[in-house]
Amino acid sequence: MNDFISKNTYFTRSSGDLIMQINAEANKQKSEGKKVINGSIGMLFDDDSSLASFSVVDEYLKKNIKEDSKKYDSIIGNNRFQEAIISWLFHNNDLKDRYCDVIGTMGATGALAVINKCFINNDEAIILPSIRWGNYDSIAYENNNKVMIYNLFKDGVFDIDSLKEQVNESCLIYKRAVVLINDPCQNPSGYSLSNEEWDEILSFLKMKSKEYPIVLVDDIAYLNFYRNSYRDVFQKLIDASSDRLLVAICFSSSKTLQIYGLRGGALIVLTSSKEVHEDILGVTRIYCRSTWSSPNHLATNVMGELFLNESTRNAILKELAYYRDLLYKRAEIFIQEAKEIDLNTCPYKGGFFVFIEVDNNIIVAERLMKKGLFIVPMSGGLRISIASIPTNEISGIAKLIKEAIY
Ligand code: PLP
Repeated sequence: MNDFISKNTYFTRSSGDLIMQINAEANKQKSEGKKVINGSIGMLFDDDSSLASFSVVDEYLKKNIKEDSKKYDSIIGNNRFQEAIISWLFHNNDLKDRYCDVIGTMGATGALAVINKCFINNDEAIILPSIRWGNYDSIAYENNNKVMIYNLFKDGVFDIDSLKEQVNESCLIYKRAVVLINDPCQNPSGYSLSNEEWDEILSFLKMKSKEYPIVLVDDIAYLNFYRNSYRDVFQKLIDASSDRLLVAICFSSSKTLQIYGLRGGALIVLTSSKEVHEDILGVTRIYCRSTWSSPNHLATNVMGELFLNESTRNAILKELAYYRDLLYKRAEIFIQEAKEIDLNTCPYKGGFFVFIEVDNNIIVAERLMKKGLFIVPMSGGLRISIASIPTNEISGIAKLIKEAIY
């Protein structure tokens, strides 16, 4: 590292994120006329290979781009946006006496950055799953945090014991714990926790929080692509939140509204304590002001207007239902073919990805790239973005992968 680079940064000589690199190579080869199947990127494409888009979103953007993008939004987002996020997520829930702070961020990535900076002391750790989105690590390291890992699956089921062990360990070392769950439709496994699994996790964290302050992070980036209602889980999270157990939810409008480039998102924090709530607003306002200053006003207003208006809200729900079904259809084809040739996939419960645990995943991914299939080696396996592959190109992928594992 040369003398110009601050020692406080997370320095690596790689050119950034592997997912972005593989996606760029796939697009380059495609533009050169090569036949490519691009299952690398977490963006949703229609069966005609165009990027999914929602007409009410497009209409809003066209009409309001000038007005919205000229004015600053307030530091953590305007009131209407905050009300809209609460309404979109919790309209069927009872918030009881909880404080529910909504902080407008640059995507769910921004929400994770706020958490890593504002809720974790330097050199303390965030507890992450063993199979995970790689950017969690970069965000932690960039904020001078460490990473502790719980095993995601044991014998094909969520390894709650491992999560408990890591929380216990963190409490022993740091006298507090910040643990992240990416649910529903986990990236990259496609797993979603059952209500019973949530009950067990929350009762453990509630018990633990009597002794130590605990932050539970739920990254819900793929929430709206889950077949089941999340209402009960949200209620459990609201009920579990207290003055000792902070629930921090990361929301992404990139995925929900198909506006990846607009960088909209929110951090939603639940607590029963007025003092904690006031401190959270204080610290997050300073963080946001000193990094991106205020959220993208066009993004906060798209959410604010479309989530609160009944007819646009219903239009979005209808579009989401269509794409959700499309994803399940693609997953079904892949999983069925994988089963027939004994290629083990992680238990898929929804979302953009299916995942296969594979030794030598980097070598296997390189072999596949040479055959025109671009998927991502990560977390000891291969992630296939079924979101970015048209349905008629899914059949045959399992066989290609199986043949590349030797
Ligand atoms: N969380 C997960 C699990 C993701 O896969 C992603 C994006 O791929 C994000 C968060 C961040 O999304 P964004 O910052 O675009 O909202």
